[in-house]
Amino acid sequence: MGEPSATPSAAPPGRDAPPRDERVPTLALSGSMRLFGHDPTAAEARLVPRTARWRWSRAALRMGIALVLAPLAALVPPHAPWALGVLGVGFVLARRRWRERYTLVRAEGRCPRCGADLRLERPAPLASPHAFSCGTCHHEPALYLDPDEGRD
Ligand SMILES: [Zn+2]
Repeated sequence: MGEPSATPSAAPPGRDAPPRDERVPTLALSGSMRLFGHDPTAAEARLVPRTARWRWSRAALRMGIALVLAPLAALVPPHAPWALGVLGVGFVLARRRWRERYTLVRAEGRCPRCGADLRLERPAPLASPHAFSCGTCHHEPALYLDPDEGRD
């Protein structure tokens, strides 16, 4: 799936800790959690903008690892499918990093249907809208951010 999920359960200790690298500037945005047929609820999010250099280095690392592993995978019969598979996975992972213009590092809100707390489980590339999964009502509200409200 790859979609970040949120549950209404209590957060483990350290959840509210700032990102590991304090030098990375973050962007705080407000927005809303929306679910068709229900009134939107307020949400807060924090993003890390990614530079082209960051995206390129992460993408190149993944493609490089795939290029190293592909010949090793080709040793296993039937050879070519394994190598192509490794190259394909490397390409997909590299492309995902290259397209990661913002990383969603924190998001909090309430489920529009049941009111349960929704919280980002772990940092993830920002999607627009960004889907959440409510562990209480099992619906999938989406986070919509207001790009004009960015602040540091
Ligand atoms: Zn819910």
